[in-house]
Amino acid sequence: MVQEAAKDRQTLQRKALEVHRRLTAIYGQPSRPAVDPLEALILTILSQNTNDVNRDRAYFQLRQSFPTWEAILEASDEEVAQAIRTAGLANVKAPRIRAALRAIIDRTGRLDLSFICRMTRDEARQWLMSLEGIGPKTAAIVLLFACGHEAFPVDTHIYRVSRRIGLVPWKASREKAHEILEDLLPPETYYPFHINLIEHGRKICRAARPLCEDCALADLCDYYDSVGTAPTATAAPTSASRS
Ligand code: SF4
Repeated sequence: MVQEAAKDRQTLQRKALEVHRRLTAIYGQPSRPAVDPLEALILTILSQNTNDVNRDRAYFQLRQSFPTWEAILEASDEEVAQAIRTAGLANVKAPRIRAALRAIIDRTGRLDLSFICRMTRDEARQWLMSLEGIGPKTAAIVLLFACGHEAFPVDTHIYRVSRRIGLVPWKASREKAHEILEDLLPPETYYPFHINLIEHGRKICRAARPLCEDCALADLCDYYDSVGTAPTATAAPTSASRS
């Protein structure tokens, strides 16, 4: 039983590496930009439930309106919400941003998160997730993008595509998917795999009408294998191996 589980894991690890190899061949080897951890945190809060363009517009407007982090703390939730309106959910995100800044300055005495990059991954993850409204995805994005820590963020594209391919069990929660993918892949592949799988989710393995006939991963994909045609966005594959 234990041996079988180890064998299954090895098979999945090989499959994950092959997916990574093919995606790199298609989309290239992205290099990790230098991002300040606090900036990464605020950008990630702004990115919740919106696209990159609206997130960036909101961030630009936020920094135009409040050139320092301190100025955001001195403003009201309403004033901050007004500045980030283009990101959507402004009335949720504004207090979340201000609460995060307040917690950081209360605990550390300054508005600077660079110390988390000197913590171990798990300590840093725990620290970030102790902030109000910060879940595993946001923490993993900050850790991976700003610190280069071994963390694998699972956004909506990664959750969908990795389950369709069969790297993550269909019924696994998004939180569990973080753990599974971190376990399957070597840490040095986290960043390129994350970026390229999102790209694949946007261009080919789209939520509503995935372009399976054009997909370079079709022969590796459980979903394609089980239904032999394009899956719907939510239906589970029929294969008994998916659980
Ligand atoms: S074969 Fe279809 S479902 Fe599978 S990864 Fe490709 S586009 Fe997605």
